[in-house]
Amino acid sequence: MSGHAGLFAIVGARVIDPANGIDGERTVLVRDGRIAGVESPGALPSFDGVRGERIERIDARGLWLLPGFVDLHAHLREPGEEHKETIATGAKAAVAGGYTTIVAIANTRPPIDNAALVRFVKKKGEEADLARVLPAATITLGQKGEGLTELVDLAEAGAVCFTDDGRPVANAGVMRRALEYSRLVGRPIVAHEEDLGLAGGSMHEGEVSVRLGLRGVPGAAEEVMIRRDLVLAELTGAHLHVMHVSTAGSVRAIREAKSRGVKVTAEATPHHLTLTDEAVKGYDTNAKMMPPLRPEADRRAIVEALQDGTLDAIATDHAPHATVDKELEFDKAASGIVGLETAFALTLRAVQRGELKLTRAIELLTSGPARAFQLDAGTLTVGAPADLTLIDPEARWKFDAKKSSSKSHNSPFDGWEFSGRVVRTFVGGRVRFEL
Ligand SMILES: [Zn+2]
Repeated sequence: MSGHAGLFAIVGARVIDPANGIDGERTVLVRDGRIAGVESPGALPSFDGVRGERIERIDARGLWLLPGFVDLHAHLREPGEEHKETIATGAKAAVAGGYTTIVAIANTRPPIDNAALVRFVKKKGEEADLARVLPAATITLGQKGEGLTELVDLAEAGAVCFTDDGRPVANAGVMRRALEYSRLVGRPIVAHEEDLGLAGGSMHEGEVSVRLGLRGVPGAAEEVMIRRDLVLAELTGAHLHVMHVSTAGSVRAIREAKSRGVKVTAEATPHHLTLTDEAVKGYDTNAKMMPPLRPEADRRAIVEALQDGTLDAIATDHAPHATVDKELEFDKAASGIVGLETAFALTLRAVQRGELKLTRAIELLTSGPARAFQLDAGTLTVGAPADLTLIDPEARWKFDAKKSSSKSHNSPFDGWEFSGRVVRTFVGGRVRFEL
């Protein structure tokens, strides 16, 4: 991999930068790891201050140049379950998928509930030196849903958000206090919405679960908690971010709250955008995730909400599991799938099927998530970090989960054929993945 340390220009690519309204051929100049200019083709000599310097040119004709992707939701399993993933292997899978910034979710063993652990995640990310790894911290101590963590200390140590993901915050009073404290630090409370009294099944509760004889989780398990937390977000004026939205009812609740000015952002996963509960037929445990895959009407509602802005981001919920945790009876198997290396292809597939507009799809992977968490990422604005992803839009390829950079291979998309592929990823102007 070449370093491209000082000064270089990427020429000939179709640049798509939704935050700046750019979609067309441009020359992108990078200097000292930051975007130094985005100019019309042929304008290279006019860049200020570079006349006479030797500029390395990277020929990117036929490719798309996008801001590096931003994932608000990746489980990296370190500390505690390094046999499933480490921060380094997760960050490697990230750059292979075109991601340059990922938020490491906090439900590790132990959970990230103190400043020392936040610093540990940050340091491991820096040592890996691949994608930028931003730590999340938990809302409650030990993720027990009772005592709050020291949100101010955690934010100072580098936590970009607070989440008990993997579990809901069951007690409304605890959630209210968390939202109140989160205002002091200006970081979102990020919610896994699941009413445990309605949960406990292994797939969506509906026609398919009845046919398969599996216990289901109704959409209501998600919707009642989202509605509760929207009420609390309104009460406190705090920023609530809703993770992995999966039902039409959830979308309606968020849309209505946004229209009234409640400070809420939300994400959906590539799998909820792609698959329905029909994928569970055959009892493939790689179709088991929480929230579960839903019926087609819900999938369509998610697509519509991603397109119309009700949902702000596509987030992977990358959830590596060892084979032994997945090769079990359906109701005993672990929930979740790896997602960093297929997210872009699945998002582009939605574009190819006419479900999402291309620029909106790119926005949902870049400036959409960055804005939701107020991160300095996801754009090609001059001065921004040169985090870039090059795509070959014509490349046809087959996802082989076994060859993934992740330590785990639990994916329902193993063997799927896609067109459009990440071919190179730059982080801070340095090549961190190359096909
Ligand atoms: Zn979750």
